[in-house]
Amino acid sequence: MQVLVLGAGQLARMMSLAGAPLNINISAFDVGSENIVHPLTQAVLGHGLENAIEQADVITAEFEHIPHHILDVCEQSGKFLPTTDAIKAGGDRRIEKALLDNAGVKNAKYAVISSREDFTKAIEHVGMPMVLKSALGGYDGKGQWRLKSADQVEAIWAEMEACIAATSTQAIVAEEFVPFNREVSLVGARGKDGQVEVYPLAENVHTDGVLSLSTAIEDAGLQEQAKAMFTAVANSLDYVGVLALEFFDVDGQLLVNEIAPRVHNSGHWTQQGAVTCQFENHLRAVCGLPLGSTKLIRKTSMINILGEDSLPTSLFAMEGCHIHWYGKDKRPGRKMGHINVCADSNEELVTKLVALARELDKEAYPAVHAFAAQH
Ligand code: AMP
Repeated sequence: MQVLVLGAGQLARMMSLAGAPLNINISAFDVGSENIVHPLTQAVLGHGLENAIEQADVITAEFEHIPHHILDVCEQSGKFLPTTDAIKAGGDRRIEKALLDNAGVKNAKYAVISSREDFTKAIEHVGMPMVLKSALGGYDGKGQWRLKSADQVEAIWAEMEACIAATSTQAIVAEEFVPFNREVSLVGARGKDGQVEVYPLAENVHTDGVLSLSTAIEDAGLQEQAKAMFTAVANSLDYVGVLALEFFDVDGQLLVNEIAPRVHNSGHWTQQGAVTCQFENHLRAVCGLPLGSTKLIRKTSMINILGEDSLPTSLFAMEGCHIHWYGKDKRPGRKMGHINVCADSNEELVTKLVALARELDKEAYPAVHAFAAQH
C-alpha cells in the first residue's frame, strides 16, 4: 500500500515508521515546494501534485493549513481521507466553530469579527475578558490576543485590523475567556465502517501556547463525556482516520477548544503507552483495515523537546524512557523531538518525572520542572 501524506514533518515521519512493518509505504508531499520527499531522509523523490497523486493508493494529511486548491485536486482523485471538509474545518476557526455547533458539541461562546463594528458587537455578545484568535493560520497560540479591559480595545483593534487586511479571507474569532481547571485532549480513530476507538484522555500542559507535557489519564466520567463529543464530531464529518479534540475541563465539564483532523502531539505517548499507536491506527483507518486496540498498557507521559538538539546520555539509562528525535535542524522553540516515559504505576511515573527534572534544563523544560516542584 502506497500512502501519500500532505506535509513532510515529524507526523509524516512517525507514520512512516509505524507503517513499515505493515508494508504500508509512506511518501510525503511538501506543499510549499511541491516536492515528493522521503519522510525520514527528506530526499527528493519526485515533483508535482499530479505525479504524487498518480503514485498513491491513499492520500492523507499531517496538518490542516493546506492551500484549498491542493485539497480540491486531492478530493477529485477520490483517494483523500479523512475528507477535505475535515481538513478545511481544522484550518479555519469559523468553519470549526460552526461544525461544533452543528454537531451539538459544547464550545466557548464566540463571535466572528471582520470590521470595527463587529468588534463592538462581539464585546457585547461575548463579554470581557475575551480571547481573540485569527480564523486562518493561527496555531500553538500564535495570532491571538487577550482583551481584559476596555482601555485595550483600540490598541488590539489596530493589530487585528492589520491581521485582517493582510489576507483577503482572514477574520478574527472572539471567544469568551474560559476559566478552565486544566486542558485535556482525546485522540481517537474512526474506521471506514464507522467503528470508533478512542485512547485514554491526555492531560496537557502548555508553555507559551505550545504543548510541553502530556500525560495519559484514567477518569471514567470525563472519558465518557469526551468520547460522546468525539463520536458526534467524527460522525458529522463521516471522518476516516485519527482525529484529536482539545478540551477545557471546567469543574468536570468539558468544552471543546479545537479539533485537529490528524494525528496529534498529545497522542505521541501512544507509541509506548498503548497497544496500537496513533500513527498505526491512522494508517489502518485510511487503508480500510480494522482498527487496533487503543487500550493503555503503561502509565505514560510525553515531554516535548523544544529548540534543543541534545539530551543527557543518562536518559538512555533510565528504564522506561524512550527518545524520539525528528531529524530536524535546531531553531529556537522548534519541535525537535519528544521523550516518552513509562511506568507501572502512577507513583512510579511521578518518581520518574521528578528524576527527569533533575537531568533536564530548567529553561528548556519548564513544565517538567513545575511538575517536579509540586511533587
Ligand atoms: P489555541 O491555539 O486555541 O489552542 O489556544 C492556545 C492556548 O490558549 C490554549 O491551549 C489555552 O491555554 C489558551 N486559550 C485558548 N482559548 C482560550 C479561551 N477561550 N479561554 C481561555 N484560554 C484559552
